[in-house]
Amino acid sequence: MIQFSSILKALNSLTISKSFLKLVALTITATSLTLFLIHPAPALEVQFTPSNPRLGDTIDLRVNSPSQPTVSFDGQVYPAFPRGTGLWQVLVPTTPLDAPGTKNLVINDRSTEKRIAVQLGNRDFATQRLWIPGSDEPPVDEYEFDRVDEFKALVTPERHWRGALLRPTSGDVTSVYGVRRYYNGVFAEDYYHRGVDYGAGTGTPVIAPAAGRISLVGRENQRFNIHGNTVGIDHGQGLLSIMLHLSRIDVKEGDFVQAGQVIGAVGATGAVTGPHLHWGLSVHGKAIDPVPWREGDFN
Ligand SMILES: [Zn+2]
Repeated sequence: MIQFSSILKALNSLTISKSFLKLVALTITATSLTLFLIHPAPALEVQFTPSNPRLGDTIDLRVNSPSQPTVSFDGQVYPAFPRGTGLWQVLVPTTPLDAPGTKNLVINDRSTEKRIAVQLGNRDFATQRLWIPGSDEPPVDEYEFDRVDEFKALVTPERHWRGALLRPTSGDVTSVYGVRRYYNGVFAEDYYHRGVDYGAGTGTPVIAPAAGRISLVGRENQRFNIHGNTVGIDHGQGLLSIMLHLSRIDVKEGDFVQAGQVIGAVGATGAVTGPHLHWGLSVHGKAIDPVPWREGDFN
């Protein structure tokens, strides 16, 4: 490394004055110090999977930052949970109701703001055409929907899931996530199948796909006319399972269940045409595709 004094010596013979060079040296030092004070923190690093998300995917964001970052996707803020020193996880739900295209991902920590344009890809969902005779809608009791909405809003701080989620029952998948519907020929803008249906027989055990707290129990004979006998499991940090149409419920609100623990049995309660389990999985209140959670690793 060349010492500044040796440069001064070498330049001594030139016409530039020593005091001018000293001034330049001081200015350089002061500028470097100022730059160091403005940018003392390491760069904010962001990674996310899948790198090409499609409608229904959960985007798993990892942020390296010494302080808890604020993260927004498409204008909505999502919480960051610690995953070790200086590492944070943010789960961003997407659904068939989102418009595909460029979405703004904005990450802020105390010193830096990072903006990333994420391409949310389109996806073809199967459609169903239903013909319902008569024009009168059946009367809906808001009570059960209010209870379910209250459950879906839960975001508790501790994470209970570990590794891939378990298949909640046996039987073939009879309806996949995301199916759209036409009622009497009219596309239902707000409808999509918010889960996966398994066509198992009445009485087939239903297990918890991951550990969690039982945070909702609803019964057909207590005004759960559409959902039927229902169990909601809080897996923590905004991840929730809801099991519908059960014939039997083996747990009560407040219980803590382990992954694989039986919580009830398949049935045909509520508004159904036959026995099946509907398993809905949601992240921060939005029903996302459970398949990546069955296959992937969101740890
Ligand atoms: Zn279903």
